[in-house]
Amino acid sequence: MNTCGSTSSSHARTRALTLRLTKAIMDRHREGHCDALSESWGADNAPRPARLPDIARLLAVSGQGVPIASQMTPKEIADVIKSGIDPYAAAIDGTAVRQALHPPLTDLLCAIHLAQWFSDCDPDIGPFAPGVTLIRVADDALRERLEDPMGFVLPFAWEALTRGSKKYPDHVALVCLEKASAFSKSDPRDKLRESLDEALAKGLGVVALAADPSDLSEGGRMLMVGDVTWPSLDGEALIDLLRATHSATGEVAEAELRTRLRGNTRIGALPWPVVNHAFHASTTLAVADRVAKARVPTPPVPRRTLDDVCGLPNVTEELRHLVEDVRQWQADELDWSDVSASILLHGPPGVGKTMIAEAIAGSTGATFISTSYAEAQKAGHLGDYLRTMSAHVNRAISSAPAVFFVDELDSYVSRQGSGKNFSTYMHSVVNGLLEQLTKLNDAPGVIVVAATNHLNVIDSALIRAGRFDRKISVGLPDKDGIAAILSGHLGNEALPLHDLSHRLVGLSGADVAAIARTAKGAARRARETVALCHVLSAIDQRVPRADPEHIRRKAIHEAGHAVVGHVLGLKPGHRIFVAAVGGGYDSPVPPIMTPDVADKELAMRFGGRAAEVAFLGTLSTGSGGSEHSDLGGATDLAIDLEQAYGFGPSLIYSPVAPADRHRMPDDLLERVERRLHLAEDRARSVINANRHLVERIVDALIEHRELDQDALLELLAPDACDCSVQEAS
Ligand code: ADP
Repeated sequence: MNTCGSTSSSHARTRALTLRLTKAIMDRHREGHCDALSESWGADNAPRPARLPDIARLLAVSGQGVPIASQMTPKEIADVIKSGIDPYAAAIDGTAVRQALHPPLTDLLCAIHLAQWFSDCDPDIGPFAPGVTLIRVADDALRERLEDPMGFVLPFAWEALTRGSKKYPDHVALVCLEKASAFSKSDPRDKLRESLDEALAKGLGVVALAADPSDLSEGGRMLMVGDVTWPSLDGEALIDLLRATHSATGEVAEAELRTRLRGNTRIGALPWPVVNHAFHASTTLAVADRVAKARVPTPPVPRRTLDDVCGLPNVTEELRHLVEDVRQWQADELDWSDVSASILLHGPPGVGKTMIAEAIAGSTGATFISTSYAEAQKAGHLGDYLRTMSAHVNRAISSAPAVFFVDELDSYVSRQGSGKNFSTYMHSVVNGLLEQLTKLNDAPGVIVVAATNHLNVIDSALIRAGRFDRKISVGLPDKDGIAAILSGHLGNEALPLHDLSHRLVGLSGADVAAIARTAKGAARRARETVALCHVLSAIDQRVPRADPEHIRRKAIHEAGHAVVGHVLGLKPGHRIFVAAVGGGYDSPVPPIMTPDVADKELAMRFGGRAAEVAFLGTLSTGSGGSEHSDLGGATDLAIDLEQAYGFGPSLIYSPVAPADRHRMPDDLLERVERRLHLAEDRARSVINANRHLVERIVDALIEHRELDQDALLELLAPDACDCSVQEAS
């Protein structure tokens, strides 16, 4: 690979090459424009040549004059700078300093960067060795704008850096990835790859303007000899440009220019016409002033920050570390590779995953770019979807720092799960996303946040180790969280909301926020300040009054899970709760599944059903009804034990997708059924031997509606349980 970029030892060489190349570009440009010159120009108080031949003569010495600063004292230099003249750029003979009516800025920038990248190259080989030199330009519009100038400048760089008589056209080809057209279904990468392979087959060195290596052909990737990234415009590049466009000596008042340019910290985001406009000013200093003054409107930063995310202290605390890392990266104190910048948020709908992604952007001042499978699908055809996704990704990369949010990651369904109906469409969709995620993981300043309601149905390739640095579980808020969300959305911390929150246990953050909105609306209509009565009435409207009998059944059910899990020695749950609208026992996923642990897990999932039968004599729908129910989860696990983990008689890895369940062979059905029945029997034995534990938890649940782990463990004190049924299976 070429070593791209200059070290301090090669700084002088780079500088000399930059001047040489930019002067050559200016000379060539002048040849084409001399005829058009019809007016005098120059520093405002420089002698103005009157006739065209004089102008041409003056231009012919560009970059070669002696700066007037060389004959001045520091005080005189300071005074001249104050008056708006750059004494380093103006030559002793008073030569005009502005060199062209239409400065060919893009050509010159190409020359400047080529000089930086290749000044150290081997002169016997030249800057573009046989193989592919990739110049990464993520932004489609910029890439398009660079193609012609790059084509114009490459021969200059080649001739300046290659020894001997080799001719540029016989050795180098330029290919550029075109922007996708809304009217064409074809992938522009195919065209690029074709041209690339053609040039490689002829043994040429290829300079490829593309977004990243994945755009190249396979052969192109294998033959990559150089990989550089087009940098965004900064003050240093502007100073180099000014040496070429506004200096008769090749020098400029660097320190003064740097000071003035520092006035604009977002030079890279200036629209190109604004930069060009600045370069029409007559002196280096006037150009810098125009650039400094040009204000890029700050992109609308989402209003929300992590301070707005209520009741999730563990989640927000973890993310504040990320915010601090991004700040350090922006201050050049931390390498991007040391920032854990990809996050998978998982949890039920409405718990604030999208809000958290927005809040990360808000807290880091990053641009928020959001996409989802459904949104990309609206684009229509597969090619359109892939292009839409790619456009979002390129926008994230070019506007870093950015948060790239992929919602509904579970829509990218498991590839191996699709069985015989293997869908090539979905395969391409998942591969497309994987490609883009890889690209984003390499992009400095881009935080990737994905969200899913169902971790277990995502294609495993999408969440394999290393793809996401952190997987953060976002659960339903507890009573404290509910009170925090209510008061956050009501904007009134003084209300005693905690007492109300037990009625809202089991609701998501979104439900709670909706109650707050209803309360605020009622207060607004009544022209009153929001008060407890508005909140109570909003709760009455939105949350059904709990039927005590239903609450008791739910409490028995959830207590059943907790008792079976505890007696069988599984790790205790973080939280158990019952609510008018549901209930839950948050049991941790075992870090390692052995056959023994798996059987206990299965039994624990039957704990609710077993307790309902033991205490109430009847079953309810509470255990089934969906693939995420107790029965759904137990069935999944039992099938996986047989078909995916090798815990049954077969060692063949052959997972069964939910859609293919009805096609399971009879012997497999029988084995799965047997596992489920054994688990239920085991759960019943545990419940019958520990009825008192269930009763204790039920009483506490009816009173408090939720119990945290400590409260639960207190109720399940070690001396209180009959663990003799542990081995029953
Ligand atoms: P998800 O992406 O998990 O489905 P959302 O982020 O879309 O959930 O949440 C919907 C709305 O609910 C949010 O815009 C916010 O108003 C509210 N909300 C949810 N969780 C919280 C929370 N923890 N703190 C404050 N508001 C929340």
